[in-house]
Amino acid sequence: MSRPTVTVLGAGIVGICCAIELQRSGYQVDLIDRSEPASETSYGNAGVFSLGSIAPLASPALLPRLPGLIANRYTDFRLHYPHFLQLLPWLLAFLKRCNRDTYFSDGEIINRLTVASVKRHEELIKQSGAEHLTLRNGGLRLYRHEKTFEKDALERELFRRCEVEYEVLDRDGIKKLEPDIHDRFVKGVWVNQTISIKDPQALCKHYVRYFESLGGEIKQLEVKGIQQVGNSWQLQCEPMDLQTPKLVVCLGAWTPELLKPLGYKNVIAIERGYHSMLAAQAGKVLNRPIFDVDSNYVMLPMSAGLRVTSGTNLTYRETPPTPVQIEQVLPRAYEAFPLGEKLIDEPWMGRRPSTADSKPIIGPAPRHQNLWLAYAHAHMGLGMGPITGQIIASQVAGKEPPLDVAACSPNRYF
Ligand SMILES: Cc1cc2nc3c(=O)[nH]c(=O)nc-3n(C[C@H](O)[C@H](O)[C@H](O)COP(=O)(O)OP(=O)(O)OC[C@H]3O[C@@H](n4cnc5c(N)ncnc54)[C@H](O)[C@@H]3O)c2cc1C
Repeated sequence: MSRPTVTVLGAGIVGICCAIELQRSGYQVDLIDRSEPASETSYGNAGVFSLGSIAPLASPALLPRLPGLIANRYTDFRLHYPHFLQLLPWLLAFLKRCNRDTYFSDGEIINRLTVASVKRHEELIKQSGAEHLTLRNGGLRLYRHEKTFEKDALERELFRRCEVEYEVLDRDGIKKLEPDIHDRFVKGVWVNQTISIKDPQALCKHYVRYFESLGGEIKQLEVKGIQQVGNSWQLQCEPMDLQTPKLVVCLGAWTPELLKPLGYKNVIAIERGYHSMLAAQAGKVLNRPIFDVDSNYVMLPMSAGLRVTSGTNLTYRETPPTPVQIEQVLPRAYEAFPLGEKLIDEPWMGRRPSTADSKPIIGPAPRHQNLWLAYAHAHMGLGMGPITGQIIASQVAGKEPPLDVAACSPNRYF
């Protein structure tokens, strides 16, 4: 008997994981992307499976910093002022969540998704032969000042509530883990179980090969629009149209424009982020991702050198890159570690699609049959890809998802 067909749009980490889980659960899956797999946001992220970064963005700790944030005085956040009015509803919804109760309840949901997802990643890494891309030395938050460490107490409380194992380090403890780091940091928080990936695109490509080995097919097509015809979906694509009985949309930051003609308004903001690649000085080694909390960058060892990533640039998706933040933090990265020359001329830019409640949108489209949505994974999409795939595969098959996903349902927005 032939397998029922499902089409998945978008071959970033989220679409790839949905395609794998659907193919494994008995469907014949077509995975469609206009480019090669993982060539957008899933290409240039920090590669961290975020066991130690489960904190929702909306935190009460942001409130005292609000005037400085809006004035673009900090390096972790940069607002594009012409976008302000359009963003206002998202920003107000976001600010409403900056209280302790919501912070902890959202954090606990993110933690449950992350723990389940990392477990599935581990299986996929084995099945796809990608172990050589993993780094299992944990992740290190570093503090230049005791005061900053104290201000971060809320995040450690969330860790304790969620039973995230961590160790607080002093200068000597940091030196033991990272002997080549300059003596700038007074405190560290080491989340030992964090896994990082030395080349996120390569990981995605391993997963795609695994998907193909299961019988799935990847097609390079640009999707221009979708239309419901009876119970099926007609896809207007370049260079050829397709029809499919069941459709899963995982187009990351590009999802809203596809859904708009169906009457689903845009509910995400685009947090653009940048990275630069640098060499370490001869003989110097960084063993794990570090987050310099006072300076707002992540630096981590990748196959191709050291990657430094920057914070949030809240703006339109398609305005020209404004890599101000990465340029601001690079001197701080040089202060922290013996870095050599830049390995890329221009910073890379990615687009994180983010909801105001820091949780992704996963589930059936509220007003259309045979249509599922999986997008808006913000800062955590690499880590959360596999659990998203498992949830979508169970929902498409009409089964109970592996965990309670009401908090991620599209119904909360549409
Ligand atoms: C600087 C930075 C650091 C990050 N660090 C981390 C981290 O350490 N850990 C973590 O978990 N997450 C991290 N993230 C977030 C993570 O990268 C994203 O959440 C994740 O990549 C989103 O995956 P996706 O599949 O939803 O979207 P994408 O990877 O953006 O994929 C969407 C796909 O849709 C395709 N597409 C779009 N429109 C069309 C169309 N019309 N037709 C056909 N195809 C189309 C695109 O080509 C693309 O391949 C980071 C992000 C950034 C920017």
